[in-house]
Amino acid sequence: MSATGHALALHGLTKRYGSFTAVDDVSLRIERGQFLTLLGPSGSGKTTILMCIAGFVAPTAGAVLLDGRDITALPPEKRDFGMVFQGYALFPHMTVAENVAFPLRVRRMGAAERQEKVRAALDLVQLDRFADRLPRQLSGGQQQRVALARALVFDPALLLLDEPLSALDKKLRAELQEELKALHRRVGRTFVNVTHDQEEALSLSDRVAILNHGKLVQEGAPAALYEKPRTRFVADFLGKSNFLHGTVREAHPGGFAVMAGGTRVIQAIAPDAPRPAAGTPALLSLRPEKIALLGEAETAENAVDGRILSWSYLGAGFAINVATQDLGALRVTLPSWGAPFAPAEGMPVRLGWSATASVPVAEDAD
Ligand code: ADP
Ligand code: MG
Repeated sequence: MSATGHALALHGLTKRYGSFTAVDDVSLRIERGQFLTLLGPSGSGKTTILMCIAGFVAPTAGAVLLDGRDITALPPEKRDFGMVFQGYALFPHMTVAENVAFPLRVRRMGAAERQEKVRAALDLVQLDRFADRLPRQLSGGQQQRVALARALVFDPALLLLDEPLSALDKKLRAELQEELKALHRRVGRTFVNVTHDQEEALSLSDRVAILNHGKLVQEGAPAALYEKPRTRFVADFLGKSNFLHGTVREAHPGGFAVMAGGTRVIQAIAPDAPRPAAGTPALLSLRPEKIALLGEAETAENAVDGRILSWSYLGAGFAINVATQDLGALRVTLPSWGAPFAPAEGMPVRLGWSATASVPVAEDAD
């Protein structure tokens, strides 16, 4: 289905509670039909932003715009947004069909049309066979699908989701993630989702906005955020990373060299990127899966010797922690297929990575 959703923009959105700033000058654009996730640790302001979008919380400063129209002062019921929360929040005494019909009754829709819409919404979440059940006769995942149907049944301008999957166990959560993604494609609406789960954010979203202490720290497509984090916080929060500390030594064709103790690390940078000055501190983020184990005869742009401190088998691969003299402990993930590898504590290993594997990141202000 084509994107029929609405575009949403936040302009300098700020929410203060007394002297405490819960949301700090957040500006963000969500294009029509996009799936945007607000990702951040607990207390970073995600729910407050969603509540400002929904109209349940009045911002201290800034504006919420829907298709360019300022809706900051519009009451929630006039915004016509669908919402799904962490708890299922279904009416326990109403059947599935009655729950889904509720927003249509509130809108005084006629019985025939209502029935048609309820059937279509239940179809959408594949619960048409469960129309006459009560919520307590459904699993957690099914209840959450009813909540989704109820939020979508009246063709909302936006669907707002606040940690809708966090009450479910891991496997069910993964299943519902897939469903949510498929649902988004089917309905073509604009979705704004909130989560503290980075895997969920990466797998579901067109765009991810990362929050810390009420501030928007970086926004982008999942792969761009993962590959090019701008700060240590983003690199660390979105996936796992090693951080290499050193001092900039000299410019190098296509990059620069960093000295960490006696180890020289080459960092590639884009031709148009500013080159850091020699003598300044450098911080590089290096993902564990971008480090390889070098065989006897192998070389790499960057290499370091170390010893395995600890390791674990993860099914799809190994996670090993390697102690190095100059770069500290490095976390490395290796595929379990390919060259046979039998890790052992204390085993000497040589690690290698290319100059493009790492990215320079800034230390965070707070
Ligand atoms: P998140 O959803 O990212 O966990 P919230 O948006 O719920 O974070 O909260 C952000 C911060 O604002 C938290 O420190 C929280 O305690 C605070 N906060 C939220 N609502 C209120 C309120 N009504 N009064 C005072 N502080 C609040
Ligand atoms: Mg929250």
